[in-house]
Amino acid sequence: MKKVVLQKGREHSVLRRHPWIFSGAIKTSESSKPEMVEVVSFNGERLGFGFNSPSSQIRVRIVSFKAEPTRDYLKAKILEAVSSRKYDFSSSQARRLINAENDDLPGLVADAYAGHVVLQLTSKFAADTQALIVETLMESGAKSVSERSDVEVRAKEGLEVGGFAFLAGSEPPETIEIEESGVKFLIDVRKGHKTGYYLDQRAARKAVGEYAFGKVLNCFSYTGGFGHYAAKNAAVTHVLQVDVSAEALKRGREIMALNACPEEKMTFEEADVFKFLRACRDQGKSFDTIVLDPPKFAESKSQVMKAARGYKDINLLAMKLLKPGGILATFSCSSAMTSDLFDKVVSEAAADAKASFRILARTLQADDHPVSISFPEGQYLKGLILRKAL
Ligand code: SAH
Repeated sequence: MKKVVLQKGREHSVLRRHPWIFSGAIKTSESSKPEMVEVVSFNGERLGFGFNSPSSQIRVRIVSFKAEPTRDYLKAKILEAVSSRKYDFSSSQARRLINAENDDLPGLVADAYAGHVVLQLTSKFAADTQALIVETLMESGAKSVSERSDVEVRAKEGLEVGGFAFLAGSEPPETIEIEESGVKFLIDVRKGHKTGYYLDQRAARKAVGEYAFGKVLNCFSYTGGFGHYAAKNAAVTHVLQVDVSAEALKRGREIMALNACPEEKMTFEEADVFKFLRACRDQGKSFDTIVLDPPKFAESKSQVMKAARGYKDINLLAMKLLKPGGILATFSCSSAMTSDLFDKVVSEAAADAKASFRILARTLQADDHPVSISFPEGQYLKGLILRKAL
């Protein structure tokens, strides 16, 4: 196997079991094509095996710090990830079965919706391993396996940015009905966001559903996730779902009917949240519960300050619209925005809003999205559930 030799001192990160090797860390490489390579330190010590991706900034992704990653080894790793979820492919549940680097399978995401699996392959390694992944998932009981390759990061790996592709099994229906903590959802694996849904917020949706009361404003609602949970709570009188995507809201109305939510209890508004919150402020509106679950504001560390301004803006507006005693559930899914920094931004917003807020709970991505302790980038989602003091 060809060798990649690291610069002196650049072995430390690999010894700490971080899986990414950037081009600047490499002294010499015998490989110039996408293939498995052996990674060694400047003095020839073997550090692990990784996949070489010549066109990417992340030049090598470590696949194994121990044994050589043969086909059998990779199959065992896929099975380890899938079996740890204890997922029943014949159930109506939805789960992430493989969480990329955090499951030692760089760039490989597999989400299951009532037995139908959708892959997202964002590294050369994952793309190269596709056939084995499909085979292993079908043997594990998947009803079907499809792929969504409409993710921009694929371009950075020199991979084609495409769309939906059905790969194996029986073709998934146009919408897949799933159930999450007693709430039903309709998932469009062809055109829905990501692989169809934001599975990572499952635990947070449940928590917020329990805290919610009175008039609820669900900002960046997508198909209404947090709002459908809230509507099941008897203490909630009304849910207003706001998103910029008309298609997501249309699906949200179907999901509302599916859950037999009374017509008067939920409304949908197609709007830009930044403008919508300002309009609410100008009209003197107020709410008892507000959810802020925006898209990623920072793609990288260089965008953190700009992202912080965006988070502060919406949090400040929401804090002012919230009645005393009300609940604010606020989230960030940018991994560059650390939990400490997010706390700081939210506390600055509270200061500007001239109000006190208490932390009732902190949320993380759901436990089917485990985070490797050696890979801080894996911890991207964080949330605060706050109560506004009187
Ligand atoms: N809370 C959702 C997931 C939200 S994802 C759930 O639990 O399923 C973020 C959403 O923000 C997407 O649906 C996207 O369409 C929407 N969005 C992005 N920018 C927006 C903006 N400026 N105003 C309103 N919605 C926006």
